[in-house]
Amino acid sequence: MTDTASKKDLLKKVMPHSDILTQCIHCGLCLAVCPTYDITKSERSSPRGRIRLIKELAEGRSEISDTFVQEMNFCLDCQACETACPAGVKYGQMVEAARDYITEANADTSLKQTIKRFFLNRILAVAPILAVFSFFMAFYRTSGLQWLVRKTSILKLIPGNLSQVESLSPEFSFFASKYEEVENASGLAKGEKMAFHTGCLMKHAFGKINDDTVGLLTANGYDVLIPKNQVCCGSLHAHNGEGSKALDLAKKNIDNFAGKDYRFLISNSAGCGAFMKEYGHLLENDPEYREKALKFSQKVKDITELLAEIDFENQCKPLEAEITYHDACHLCHTQKITQQPRQVLKRIPGINYTELEDSTWCCGSAGIYNVMEYDSAMKFLDKKLKNIGSTGARIVITGNPGCIGQIKGGIERVGETTEVLHPVELIMRAYKKG
Ligand code: SF4
Ligand code: SF4
Repeated sequence: MTDTASKKDLLKKVMPHSDILTQCIHCGLCLAVCPTYDITKSERSSPRGRIRLIKELAEGRSEISDTFVQEMNFCLDCQACETACPAGVKYGQMVEAARDYITEANADTSLKQTIKRFFLNRILAVAPILAVFSFFMAFYRTSGLQWLVRKTSILKLIPGNLSQVESLSPEFSFFASKYEEVENASGLAKGEKMAFHTGCLMKHAFGKINDDTVGLLTANGYDVLIPKNQVCCGSLHAHNGEGSKALDLAKKNIDNFAGKDYRFLISNSAGCGAFMKEYGHLLENDPEYREKALKFSQKVKDITELLAEIDFENQCKPLEAEITYHDACHLCHTQKITQQPRQVLKRIPGINYTELEDSTWCCGSAGIYNVMEYDSAMKFLDKKLKNIGSTGARIVITGNPGCIGQIKGGIERVGETTEVLHPVELIMRAYKKG
């Protein structure tokens, strides 16, 4: 960024209003809940420190630097600081704006960033390309190639952390499940229609959870509307400096669900649900989309919010299961949903529930953080695994695909057999028990 006028224009376009930038009263209450501060004990890696860096940049009192870029990338965007903050600081908006600024100012030209941008914009956001990518990843996994790559550790010969990134790849399917535009109620029909957002990675790498979600809704008497042209929600883009692409995707989803008759739009992914609830705020200054976006967001519900309100357990057979629950950051900190998943799980007959210590502490997945900041992500995961081990639970339940993949990978790495499931998978297991 060379000329001062264009820097000012970009800051004005990207950074939040000064009302938001000046909310922090420097009390430090957020420090105790910040995972990056916990491992560094460095002020600049705390919410308060990062807010200071962002504010100085936004007010034109500092230039973008390597330190700034590192600190914005190091943050998990877990939003635990927002939960702890007595001043209601909107930290998520600030760090996401700072990441947009880094992208637009082209301040991070590392190979890792280039690959990330390519993956987000050219693969994840383009449904047919994601389908082809998933097919090849499924072939890689099932053909023996993955086994060979891991056995020979061949990727360790390539500079960078490709071998670590490969170990995190989820189990992609050859083909995503196909649904009718409306899946009809299979139980006693309630005469009510729920819409369902199938997601991008959910659809291709966590398809069983989608199948179980649709199965659970239809078994409870709902018709399920699944529009064909819906797209990725854009949350990974918004959290990773691709704000413009996130808005494009949001508009596509709004258009695809607009004019359709449904009561709630159900999400089974904490990250997607949190972001779709934000569409109304994100598009509040867009005269064409303002109202449509607000209407869309007001109907979004996490599946556990709906389950907490209905008698889903009537169809459960008793399950002898020792379980615990990990709070996904975008469910507990962003959507403030903590009680409903616990109430739902405890209503499954035969369940033995043990609370997890520091259950709201990030597991290190944080979207694609574990790929971008592998070493730090593993430190956060180690703490989570230690706490899971102390519960004695045989099943860990959580409501976000990233957390499922991260915790499952960690458990396999230490040779344990504890399962990691989404709430709908556990309920459907109780439904199907012979
Ligand atoms: S979002 Fe999480 S990692 Fe980032 S500053 Fe807040 S608490 Fe720390
Ligand atoms: S808790 Fe809130 S007001 Fe206090 S230092 Fe942290 S961000 Fe600032």
